[in-house]
Amino acid sequence: MSEKFDVVILGGGNAGIGVTGPVRRAGMSVAMIEARDLGGTCPNRGCTPKKILVAAGHALHEIERASVHHIAVGKPKLDWAALIDREKDMIKDIPANLARSMAKRQVEVIKGHAAFAGPNTIRVGDRTLEARHVVIATGSKPRPLPIPGTEHMITSDEMLSERELPGSVIFVGGGVISLEFGHVYARTGTEVTILEALPQLLPAMDADAVAQLQAESERIRIRIKTNVSVKKIEPANGRLRVTFVHDGREQALEADRVVNGAGRIANVDTLNLEAGSVAHASGRVTIDAHLRSTSNPIVHVCGDAVPISPQLSPIATYEGDIVGRNIVEGPKHSPDYASMATSVYTVPALAAVGLTENAARQKGLAFDVHVNDMLGWFSARTYAETVAWSKVIVEKATDRILGAHFVGHAGQELINVFGLAMRFGITATQIRENIYAYPTFASDIKHMLGHA
Ligand SMILES: Cc1cc2nc3c(=O)[nH]c(=O)nc-3n(C[C@H](O)[C@H](O)[C@H](O)COP(=O)(O)OP(=O)(O)OC[C@H]3O[C@@H](n4cnc5c(N)ncnc54)[C@H](O)[C@@H]3O)c2cc1C
Repeated sequence: MSEKFDVVILGGGNAGIGVTGPVRRAGMSVAMIEARDLGGTCPNRGCTPKKILVAAGHALHEIERASVHHIAVGKPKLDWAALIDREKDMIKDIPANLARSMAKRQVEVIKGHAAFAGPNTIRVGDRTLEARHVVIATGSKPRPLPIPGTEHMITSDEMLSERELPGSVIFVGGGVISLEFGHVYARTGTEVTILEALPQLLPAMDADAVAQLQAESERIRIRIKTNVSVKKIEPANGRLRVTFVHDGREQALEADRVVNGAGRIANVDTLNLEAGSVAHASGRVTIDAHLRSTSNPIVHVCGDAVPISPQLSPIATYEGDIVGRNIVEGPKHSPDYASMATSVYTVPALAAVGLTENAARQKGLAFDVHVNDMLGWFSARTYAETVAWSKVIVEKATDRILGAHFVGHAGQELINVFGLAMRFGITATQIRENIYAYPTFASDIKHMLGHA
């Protein structure tokens, strides 16, 4: 016997939870199937626990700079096992809290792995659910690499759990996870190497911002090699050896850990998409502008399972809300990613919103670029910043912000001012004319935009 629901959501992460608001407000019956922990990646294995390690990296950075303030400190000693315990302790109640909030919302949460059994039928364990709408919100997983020896690699899951600090780590891939964990490890004294296949780390980010971050990463002794082709990973001398070609020469490096830092892909391969008549290509569900399957429009996709949007938790929640509203109101809503602020939580962070300079050029737009190295500015000197850099791109005709990019200078907070301006059409002149509390990093914003 099948059980009937208006909406069945596969996955209880940010995206799945985002769907529940609009559909429950409309009084629809909802089942949410979750294979692991409610909350999904961000609070259990992603943003939140990672930020706890990043905060420790930040403290070590401040200690390194203490002498500038004439504070004498000894060599810091980090108890890594205790830090991991702190991290686990801070997040341990999240799934239970979310279970309570889903119960309050009258969402039926079912534990187990879900898969399609028909175009509107989902099987989980020995239960069969029939739905008027199905939502794929199953998140992402590390990208498998076509290299011999990948079974020796670990992922961010292990880095967030291992209580023993490795002496050396090689990251294969120079994306967000590699840089964020690399900065924490490097500050603890772990030897860090990042091997990136492309000419630039963080290829989606502004090239000049990445160059600033790369210089800062190298300052803290992270070894970075780009244009690298990794050939194999194998055990050697009680460690792991990574063989790669760089500068036309085959080379090898050894480390205690090798991490898959090659990004993440949509986690949809075990959903039996064929049974659900859900068209897909190269591991990606084919979707329309309203985040619906092109072949089966009662199937909606949101969050990291969407192949074309940035894999970020606020975007997962936003897409979940759009899917929820489309289910209630019909296919009216489409996502707009133009003003989504994001940060790479290195220490200091690289923060960005909108277009890179390159992307703005490729679109043929006419714009002014305001680049500032702010290291000499009072605010940066006061806090003994090691890098303080910004680039703001302003469209000539409209005076609108097209993009903003920061490295350091509280950029992970200030970027939201530019996101707000982009979303609500606040012009560069209006941002400049605002009165900011002084002395703050935000009060530098008007100088970052040059003179009117
Ligand atoms: C180490 C790390 C750090 C990150 N840091 C940040 C950050 O600082 N800021 C930021 O914005 N983003 C960050 N992210 C990304 C962020 O975590 C994701 O974008 C976000 O969690 C995506 O939400 P989601 O709901 O789409 O997927 P998820 O949160 O992954 O949820 C999907 C859920 O579906 C479940 N599931 C999968 N398959 C099935 C199935 N067949 N049946 C039932 N359940 C299933 C999974 O168990 C999971 O709980 C980070 C990610 C990682 C890995």
